[in-house]
Amino acid sequence: MDKSTPQAIHLKDYAPPPYLIDTVDLAFDLGEDVTRVRSRLAIRANPDAASPAGALVLDGQDMRLVSVALDGRTLDPSEYSVGPESLTIPGPPEAFSLEVVTELKPQENTSLSGLYRTSGNFCTQCEAEGFRKITYFLDRPDVMARYRTTITADALKYPVMLSNGNLVASSKMEGDGRHTVTWEDPFAKPSYLFALVAGVLVHVEDSYVTRSGRTVTLRIYVEPGNQDKCGHAMASLKKSMAWDEEVFGLEYDLDIFMIVAVGDFNMGAMENKGLNVFNTKYVLAKPETATDTDFLGVEAVVAHEYFHNWTGNRVTCRDWFQLSLKEGLTVFRDQEFSSDMHSRPVKRIADVQRLRAAQFPEDSGPMAHPVRPDSYIEINNFYTTTVYEKGAEVVRMIHTLLGADGFRKGMDLYFERHDGQAVTCDDFVAAMEDAAGKDLGQFRRWYSQAGTPELAVTGEYDAAARTYRLTVRQSCPPTPGQPTKLPFHIPLALGLLDPSGADIPLRLAGEPGPAGTSRVLDVTGPEQVFEFVDVPRQPVPSLLRGFSAPVKLRAPYTDDDLTFLMAHDGDAFNRWEAGQTLATRLLLDLVADRAENRPLELSPGFIDAFSRILKDPDLDPAFAAQALTLPSEGYLGQQMPVIDVDGIHEVRTFARRAIAGRLRDDLLATYRAMGGNEPFSIDAAAIGRRALKNLALGYLMALEDAEAVELCVGQFHNAQAMTDVIAALGLLADTRLPQRESALRRFYDLWKDEPLVVDKWFSIQAMSERPETLDEVAALLAHPAFEIRNPNKVYALIGGFAGGNPVRFHDAGGGGYRFLADQVLALNRLNPQVASRMVKMFARWRKYDPRRQSLMRAELERIVATPGLSRDVFEIASKSLE
Ligand code: ZN
Repeated sequence: MDKSTPQAIHLKDYAPPPYLIDTVDLAFDLGEDVTRVRSRLAIRANPDAASPAGALVLDGQDMRLVSVALDGRTLDPSEYSVGPESLTIPGPPEAFSLEVVTELKPQENTSLSGLYRTSGNFCTQCEAEGFRKITYFLDRPDVMARYRTTITADALKYPVMLSNGNLVASSKMEGDGRHTVTWEDPFAKPSYLFALVAGVLVHVEDSYVTRSGRTVTLRIYVEPGNQDKCGHAMASLKKSMAWDEEVFGLEYDLDIFMIVAVGDFNMGAMENKGLNVFNTKYVLAKPETATDTDFLGVEAVVAHEYFHNWTGNRVTCRDWFQLSLKEGLTVFRDQEFSSDMHSRPVKRIADVQRLRAAQFPEDSGPMAHPVRPDSYIEINNFYTTTVYEKGAEVVRMIHTLLGADGFRKGMDLYFERHDGQAVTCDDFVAAMEDAAGKDLGQFRRWYSQAGTPELAVTGEYDAAARTYRLTVRQSCPPTPGQPTKLPFHIPLALGLLDPSGADIPLRLAGEPGPAGTSRVLDVTGPEQVFEFVDVPRQPVPSLLRGFSAPVKLRAPYTDDDLTFLMAHDGDAFNRWEAGQTLATRLLLDLVADRAENRPLELSPGFIDAFSRILKDPDLDPAFAAQALTLPSEGYLGQQMPVIDVDGIHEVRTFARRAIAGRLRDDLLATYRAMGGNEPFSIDAAAIGRRALKNLALGYLMALEDAEAVELCVGQFHNAQAMTDVIAALGLLADTRLPQRESALRRFYDLWKDEPLVVDKWFSIQAMSERPETLDEVAALLAHPAFEIRNPNKVYALIGGFAGGNPVRFHDAGGGGYRFLADQVLALNRLNPQVASRMVKMFARWRKYDPRRQSLMRAELERIVATPGLSRDVFEIASKSLE
């Protein structure tokens, strides 16, 4: 490539900042055309820097520099130099004040990073490197400063003006209709946690008394008209605050905690100190407009951002390679919180499904990277499922290895050592290790080695000796830049079931007596043998209980073993897992049958197992719904050397029909039993009943007989809860029934003024399996409700199609690919972060047949050859082609 090829940044090149900034005093003058920012920085040479301070190089881009003054003296332009991404002051004093004035045009900022406009309001997003689009700064997380922010704007257009910390002054200016506020944040923070919001907003307010007795004001700011959708977010916030006190002893530390919901946001939400900014999707919820999944998402994201106050803000990251320090840990914390609020196994299953659907593919594709990456071109590309979800699995394994008490001690030590600091993943592991007295030396490889390890386990029973020998072999496939791997330290949780299904007490050879019936083995070598003694009968092993490590397990189970585990395993996760393993095996066999033109037949034993789950009155409905869901097309595809898109889709559809045909009466009975007319509730039990009811409806609609259609159409028209409306509409959208169009039309007419509901309408159409879907999606780009500048709309329509509709996106004609590439190029100019999330859908092109491979590669090549490509898109597209 030419000289403009973006360059990679490497962890090994990390050096402490040459200068430190102690205080930041910002004054914003918000205008319709131009916004003026005056920044006053107290700067000094860093005593811990590797070399003498030298020139001061500040980050900055997309701004107009107005003036620079040093210690009160305005500098002549010859005394500094301005590059496209920097401001350099050669040889400043040891300690000095710097005043910089810049001008911005937020109304033209479509990247949604830096200061931008959303629904007429002003809003900022600074993580990872947005602050440098507001003013010149050392825009890196290891530079922590105390901020004071003054905002001046028209009092009518921007009655509400917010920033981090506490409000310390406000005044109305005479004459010109403008007003001013000043906020002060007493905690030093990195620039990525800065936030400013101004506009017409209303708020709901509540308060929380911390366990040390301080009263904290809680406010959720939304656009007028949305106040009635804040109750769930507020309740979730209060639960999160109580949970963090109880489980980790962590209290909130300011007098006010604010959440602002905005309609235009690239990600889910952002943990700015004292002023979280959220995508409306993760705040606004009421039963009529939000599904149960939405409600659970609001609760989890509110908790996640709140938990960041300690894991991320009080202790932050030294550099962006350490991103998982805050994200993996905070995802782990929000997962634990949700488990405690609802059902632990149901939550664990959902999290593992998510990990397998997104992280496993990432870990085996061209973008595979360690939880702590060692290089990047564009940091925004590394807010990945590996850093977040695999990072959380790594923290979870530490929790498993240390136990809850050891883990808590490690957390306490981590805060004791590092409060107020910017640190590394290694500092976190060291605190865990020191507090619990457990060597995590080998365990650290989880941070540095990419790829999903494979664990092959075999068992051998010796009836005469009454021993059971478990042989465990581990390996890890090569990933880009890492051809070979060293063995991981893998916690393998397991139990042994006797023929009645009960757990056998576990004693390893050499141990004095049995130690429980479920235990964690430390797998550290490439091959290890564990010998259990006093085993009275041939057991069936229950391996990797609770999914104790993010690995692929290979074990030579027979179909009967799996059916047995489905029925008896004391570990609920593994009961579910056994069913999924069996279903995967049967479905892949059917895919092979179809490819060989053999007739398709679903094993009656499998259908019987499903029937037992359906009829078990003691089973939690939420769990039953998960157990009765067949592995997704995406997951099945991952198990094949070459993904047979059409075969998988056809076979899965066939299996659903076969199950529905055989179990029709049971499904109808379940539908009716779960359908009660109780008033709406968002508790775990009610969510579970709706899940099982809609699962039953889904199977029945696979038959598309008159009764099923009547139930489905009836539910669409009469249901009060959006969960039920959406379930019915989604099923109708897959059909050619006359009711399809009228339902879609009615839904839009009813909800056209609720953007989040319109997103659902777009994604349902985008995910329809009907052959005309691509044409319809392309036409919807021109629908008045579609807006390519709004990330939620892009994720719903374009993302829904490319990521949620394998059989249509991968249509062998290549139209889906051309469509996606066109949208990536359109988005590249407007919002590189969103464009890059879309181009990732091509990353796994090598997993398809030669025809599809060449079609996808051609689109990637077309993208890479386009002039003006953002760093974001360039990095993903070029690495995908490597
Ligand atoms: Zn986070």
